[in-house]
Amino acid sequence: MAVFVSVTMPDGRSWTPKFVGEINQEKCIGCGRCFRVCGRDVLQLVGVTEDGEFIPVQLGADDDDDEEEYERKVMTIANQMNCVGCEACSKICPKDCYTHAPMSAE
Ligand code: SF4
Ligand code: SF4
Repeated sequence: MAVFVSVTMPDGRSWTPKFVGEINQEKCIGCGRCFRVCGRDVLQLVGVTEDGEFIPVQLGADDDDDEEEYERKVMTIANQMNCVGCEACSKICPKDCYTHAPMSAE
């Protein structure tokens, strides 16, 4: 049987974090909601150019100039190892873009 990383909470219950796996960039609308709720510096908003290249974009910045450089914005996972598996990003996402999974403890 698979054994997953879990933590024991102060009241003794066990909790199995589900770590961020992928963001479906076909569905993502680049709204930034997930970025705002993640407290672990995991995510990075990027602009996607005509050639499919990613340009890092500051959320909320005045990007009038940059808008000519990219066609749309999507969220990416920049620092996956920072994730603590809280799933806040997934819960707030209006497009159901996220997949999460527990981590094997073996
Ligand atoms: S699961 Fe939590 S820590 Fe991980 S990317 Fe989502 S909001 Fe950040
Ligand atoms: S909340 Fe969902 S749709 Fe919005 S930027 Fe994050 S992944 Fe994309």
